[in-house]
Amino acid sequence: MTAQIIDGKAFAATVREKVAGHVARLKEENGITPGLAVVLVGEDPASQVYVRSKGKQTVEVGMNSYEHKLDVDTPEANLLALIDKLNNDPAVHGILVQLPLPGHLNEDLVINSIDPAKDVDGFHISNVGLLGTGQKSMVPCTPLGCLMMLRDHHGSLSGLDAVVIGRSNIVGKPMAQLLLGESCTVTIAHSRTKDLPEVVKRADIVVAAVGRPEMVPGDWIKEAATVIDVGINRIDAPEKGEGKTRLVGDVHFESAAAVAGAITPVPGGVGPMTIACLLANTVTACCRANGLAEPE
Ligand code: NDP
Repeated sequence: MTAQIIDGKAFAATVREKVAGHVARLKEENGITPGLAVVLVGEDPASQVYVRSKGKQTVEVGMNSYEHKLDVDTPEANLLALIDKLNNDPAVHGILVQLPLPGHLNEDLVINSIDPAKDVDGFHISNVGLLGTGQKSMVPCTPLGCLMMLRDHHGSLSGLDAVVIGRSNIVGKPMAQLLLGESCTVTIAHSRTKDLPEVVKRADIVVAAVGRPEMVPGDWIKEAATVIDVGINRIDAPEKGEGKTRLVGDVHFESAAAVAGAITPVPGGVGPMTIACLLANTVTACCRANGLAEPE
């Protein structure tokens, strides 16, 4: 059996198209242009790439993008003052502080200083609590993208066994909450889980968010299961030439695709959906701020 490939790149393009439609209507009918502010502290190369990509896609769907680049040694008080300014700026509907932050900054304090209504990453404790209690919240972008692909593939997820490997605050835990909200039977696995292969084997849905290249082989996967690979790992690729690298997920793609019913590739799976969901969250935040009907 060969799995259906879930094309995150194509799916993300349809999400962006819908977002662009909503943005055009907000401009035409309400005279409002949604705005997303992205704050980057320091010069981490991966973060710089993400921030550039976010800014570019924000503009492409017709929204305003405000980029704030701060020195690596920016004092915490200055960062908090900027966030306060953005919280009070009516042109800014979404605020994202690119993580990780340099070590001298308290990440929890910084994230929790963002107005929860503008917290388009969904990391503020208010949004975490709202999600956990099944109330309307801002939902973290990566798990939201995974859920959209799962819903698209399965329709109803009710009653399915889901195993999430990884328990981070940004992926694993919110993913598990979302799947619980869809009435899945959810197991969260992590580095201390006993007999991980056995746990994964009973899952109809496997979400791997670990950060270990190709850790999950095909023989852990139940036949016809749906596999969502969140991992982004860069490994050496001597076959491409000396010093070359390539991206792989947390799942061993070839062996898993031979067993699974459907699988997301890396790259081209979860990754593109994350920014598309960020744009969608910004439109949602803008609609809520203006008392307008939210996009579905
Ligand atoms: P974290 O490092 O924060 O969390 C990793 C989790 O994996 C931890 O809960 C850890 O367990 C668990 N883990 C580590 N080793 C094992 C093991 N041997 N067996 C089982 N579980 C294990 O990572 P993130 O959640 O931030 O990211 C996970 C991956 O997803 C990374 O590759 C990252 O690059 C990628 N990612 C991709 C995004 C996208 O847009 N596609 C967005 C965000 C992340 P424990 O808690 O016990 O230590």
